[in-house]
Amino acid sequence: MMPNDSTPPDPFAIPPDTMGMTAEQMRRLGHRVVDMVVDRFERRNAESVITTGDAADLTARLGGDLPEAPVDPDTTLDLMAQVVMQNMQHGDHPRYFARVPGPASFAAILGDWMGTGFNTICASWGGGSGPAVVETTVCSWIAQMLGLPDRTEGVLLSGGSMGNFTGFCVARSEIGHGVAYLTDQTHSSLPRNLRQMGLSEDEIRILPSDDALRMSADTLRNAIADDIAEGRRPMMVVATAGSTNTGATDPLDAIADICAEHGMWMHVDGAYGAPAAITEPGRAVLHGLERADSVVLDPHKWFFQPYDLGLCLVTRPGALERCFSMNPEYLRDVQATGGQVNYGNRSLELSRRSRALKLWMSLRTYGAQAFRDAVARGIDLAEFTETHLRSQPDTWEVITPAQLGVVCFAHRGSDAADHAARAARLSESGFATLSSTMLKDRSALRLCTINPLTTREDILQTLDRLAAPL
Ligand SMILES: *Cc1c(COP(=O)(O)O)cnc(C)c1O
Repeated sequence: MMPNDSTPPDPFAIPPDTMGMTAEQMRRLGHRVVDMVVDRFERRNAESVITTGDAADLTARLGGDLPEAPVDPDTTLDLMAQVVMQNMQHGDHPRYFARVPGPASFAAILGDWMGTGFNTICASWGGGSGPAVVETTVCSWIAQMLGLPDRTEGVLLSGGSMGNFTGFCVARSEIGHGVAYLTDQTHSSLPRNLRQMGLSEDEIRILPSDDALRMSADTLRNAIADDIAEGRRPMMVVATAGSTNTGATDPLDAIADICAEHGMWMHVDGAYGAPAAITEPGRAVLHGLERADSVVLDPHKWFFQPYDLGLCLVTRPGALERCFSMNPEYLRDVQATGGQVNYGNRSLELSRRSRALKLWMSLRTYGAQAFRDAVARGIDLAEFTETHLRSQPDTWEVITPAQLGVVCFAHRGSDAADHAARAARLSESGFATLSSTMLKDRSALRLCTINPLTTREDILQTLDRLAAPL
């Protein structure tokens, strides 16, 4: 059709892409990406669980000279799907049992895609009031699901490492600089955080865990008394709710009592295990969680979200802002008052995308009960695994029982090198992958069973292949 001469050209008409793609190209490529992702979900069960590439080979295929001229985007998408994504762990595969799986759900992925597509920002109230309310909403939904007090506030970060770091900064800002108490089972990113915050080695008290690999309240009391006697100031206890190694949970109620007695901050690293508190059996194990001053969980682990997503919840209103507010001149026109939240004042991140959209989208799409069921299934699968291991006492020995989706066990007659060889053989076969670990000088194999797609048959076949003669 000829343009209608009577319509003046729109003086604000712009091309759709900043860098010059046409709308037609954008739609075709965008639809292609959706197809590639969904196609992969459909054949996920048949793919290799983990592949680790060779640096020189991958660099030859993915590196090369800086492209001065355009490269066909379809070729780049193909290279991504065929090389990049083939050389990684598939933490959402039903037989990925290593470290901590990442069983991301599709509604959460859609939320992340929307957030990226609209280039959301959640830094100031004025610049992102919609995303800010979504973040406040999901923080309070999760606090409610975990049984934390209504006054709880939160901030979404890249993961447990940054979540714990944020909680530690708030603890120091509220309590004042002093000693932090951890155990030898505390995740290794936590002492790193404390060192980088400026705590000296004698302010990072790593207590020996008890026989069940939990913090001992008596050991904690004694260490605090020693520090006070030597003129040091106890600042915070870092309790673990579901350790990465064994799923063990420190005695949260006893720790809360000790913190109350000494005016200390109680921080709970639930990066792995806190989501268990949304189920009935998990709530019993995590009793006392509701007394914490700060709680960290990693929705990219056991809350079915894609990377990256960590959550730091703080039960003292205003404490996040007291620690992190800036309020400089050049942000004055977008600052908040009265019930409005500037998320750039709740952590070290200022410009930040809306990480809340994926949680909001997935909680709305599936509903809270689906999350409870999916987490409960992970707890059940580990218990099923333990029962099966105990039914074959000539082959297996249970080292730590099923706890919040983790079970650790040894193969009779295998030492650490044999365990590592069995785990490596399984990973190399592509069928399944799991971790080997050390528990108080005992070598062990470890299964983490939080993917709701995992079947009992997946577990039985994995154990059979592990047990096959080396
Ligand atoms: C995974 C984990 C962390 C670190 O979290 P990231 O998301 O990897 O930064 C901290 N603590 C525990 C208990 C964990 O399992």
